[in-house]
Amino acid sequence: MEPKYIRNFSIIAHIDHGKSTLADRIMELTNTIDEREEKAQLLDDLKVEQEHGVTVKSRTVRNVYQAEDGHQYEYNFIDTPGHVDFSYEVSKSLAASDGAILLVDATQGVQAQTVANYRLAKKNHLAIIPVINKVDMPSADVEETEEQIIQLDDSLAEEEILKISAKTGQGVKEVLEAIRTRIPAPKGDLKKPLKALVFDYLYNPFLGIIAYVRIFDGQLKSEDQALLMAKKISFQAHEIGFFTPEMKTTNQLSVGDVGYVVTGLKDPQSVRVGDTLTLKNNSAENALSGYEAAQSVVFAGFYPKNNDYPELKNSLAKLALNDPSFHYREEVSDALGPGFRCGFLGMFHLQIIQERLKNEYGLEVLTTAPNVTYRIHLKKNNEVKEITNPTQFPYFNDIDYVEEPMVNATIEVPNELLSPVMKLADQHKGLLVDMDSKAKNTELLYQIPVSEVAYQFFNELKSVSHGYATLDTEDAGYQKADVVKVEVNINYSPIDALSFIVHREDAGRLTQDLVHKLKYSVPRTLYPMPVQAVVEGKALARVDVPPLRKNAAVSGGKKSVSKKQDLLRRQSINKRQAVKNNVALSQEVFNSILELK
Ligand code: GDP
Ligand code: MG
Repeated sequence: MEPKYIRNFSIIAHIDHGKSTLADRIMELTNTIDEREEKAQLLDDLKVEQEHGVTVKSRTVRNVYQAEDGHQYEYNFIDTPGHVDFSYEVSKSLAASDGAILLVDATQGVQAQTVANYRLAKKNHLAIIPVINKVDMPSADVEETEEQIIQLDDSLAEEEILKISAKTGQGVKEVLEAIRTRIPAPKGDLKKPLKALVFDYLYNPFLGIIAYVRIFDGQLKSEDQALLMAKKISFQAHEIGFFTPEMKTTNQLSVGDVGYVVTGLKDPQSVRVGDTLTLKNNSAENALSGYEAAQSVVFAGFYPKNNDYPELKNSLAKLALNDPSFHYREEVSDALGPGFRCGFLGMFHLQIIQERLKNEYGLEVLTTAPNVTYRIHLKKNNEVKEITNPTQFPYFNDIDYVEEPMVNATIEVPNELLSPVMKLADQHKGLLVDMDSKAKNTELLYQIPVSEVAYQFFNELKSVSHGYATLDTEDAGYQKADVVKVEVNINYSPIDALSFIVHREDAGRLTQDLVHKLKYSVPRTLYPMPVQAVVEGKALARVDVPPLRKNAAVSGGKKSVSKKQDLLRRQSINKRQAVKNNVALSQEVFNSILELK
C-alpha cells in the first residue's frame, strides 16, 4: 500500500479505561475479525502462552479500513504491550507509531497513567486524538472529563474531543475517520536502503526469534539477506508477514508498514529491541536512534526456590530478550548457593519480572533486599570499587568514603498539594534546588539519592498527590554519602544474603524495626535463636526468636534439677548443630527487609 494510505497508531490509556475493548471494536468495524472469532482468538493466544511458555504481550494488528473518502487504508494498530504502568514498554510501541488515541474513561476522568502516557506520546512527537470512553454509563461525567483533558493540554481541544462507547460501538466510526484525518501518513523513502525499527521481539520455540518491525525507509522482501546493525548479525528472512492478529505471511514489507520477520536466530543474547534492521548487501548508512539504553538502577539477587537453577537461567535469558531493560548475571551466595544478581529500572520493574517468571515460566525465586550501585573509595592506594551487592561492601576500617548515585527529580504538583509533596521529598533526603510556581502547578526540582526514590517514593508520591503529581528523574552523578552495611546474624553467624546498605542516620531505627519483623519470619527451631543486626562490628539490635518448645532454663519448677540439666545439655547439642546447618531462609525473611521504610 502507498504510504499515504497507511496509518500507524497506538491506543494509550489508564488501566481499565477500555483500550482492549476499543481495539476489538476497531478490528470488528474493519472486518479484521468478526464477533464470533474475537473470543476464540483471545483464547488461542492464551493457549500459545501456556503451551510454549512464551508471552504474547504485543498485539500488533493490520486492519483494512474503507474510508469515507472512498479509499482503502491500512491501519496498523500497535498495542502498547505488557503492563501499561511501565513506560519503557509503552515507549517502544510509541516509537513505532505516528499517532496515539488517548482514551479516558468518563466515569473516572484523567488518571495518573493518562498523564504519564500523554507525556510519553508528546515526547515521541505523536499526533494525539483525545477520546472520552464509556459515555453509555450512567455515572459518566463527560463534561468534567473534557475539562480535565483540556487542563492537561488545551491544544488537545483544538479539534473535537470524541465521545464514544467502546462497548456499544457508539462513536467508534468517528474515531476511525479521525485516525485518517488527524494522524499523519508515515514518511520515508522507498528508494533508500531498508531501515526498520525493531520495536519488539518474541521468542518462539520452533521458529526462534521473531522481530517486530516498523519500516521507516526502503523495502524488505522474503528471502532477503537482512542485517541487524547493532551487533552486525545477519540472517536470511525466510518468513516475513503481518498480524491479523494471527501471523500472516507476505512477500514484502515497505515504507510505513508494520510487521514481523522470522530471524531464525536462537540466541537471545544476539538481538536487542531498538535495533535497526537493514539489508546485508545494501545497508543503510546509519542506524535509527532507537531507544536509550536502559540503565539498571536497582539490583537484587534472584535465587531458585525449588532447585531449578538451569530452568531459571534459561528463563532469565528469554525474559531479557523480551525486556531489554532487564539485566542479570550469575553470582553465588554462601547461604543460598548459585543464583543471579539482577538489574532493574526500579522496584516496580523488579516486581513485574518476578511475576512474569512465575506466570510465564512457573518459576518462583527468593529475592534479596534491593540496593543501588555504590562507589567505594578505599584507604589503600586510593582504590575505587563499584559494588552492586552488599556482600561486596568492604570492611569498614578499610573505607575512606562512599559515594552514592543521585537524581535530579522534577516533580510537578498542583499548588494545593504542595505541602504534603514537599514533606515527602524531605523525608526522602531530597534537597530542594529550585521551585517554579505557575497558575495551577508548581514545579519542584530536588536532588535526591537514588536509593530514596527507587523503592517506594513513586507510590508514595502518587498516594499523597492522588495521582496528580508527576515525577521525572534524570541522572545526577555520584555524591558522598554516609552509608553503612547492616549484617544480619542468626545464631551468631552472618547470613550473607540478608545484608543490606543504609544511610547511617537510619541504621538505628531500621535495624530495630528489622529484628522485630525477623522475630516472626525466621523459622523457629527447638532452641531460642538470637537474631542480631550488626553495623561495623557492633550489634545495634537483637531479638531472640523463641523456641518451638519450652525452654528448660526457664520452664517451671516441678522437674528435678538433673532432668533440667539433661534437657539443657540436649538443647545445647541442638544449638551447635544448628550453627552448622543453614537456617532455612524463606521469602518472608527477605520481605522483612524489603518492607522496611
Ligand atoms: P483496558 O485495561 O484499557 O484494556 O480496558 P478494557 O478494554 O479491558 O475494559 C475494562 C472494562 O471496561 C471491561 O469490563 C469493559 O467491558 C469495560 N468497558 C470498556 N469500554 C466500555 C464502554 O464504552 N462502556 C462500558 N459500559 N464499559 C466499557
Ligand atoms: Mg486491556
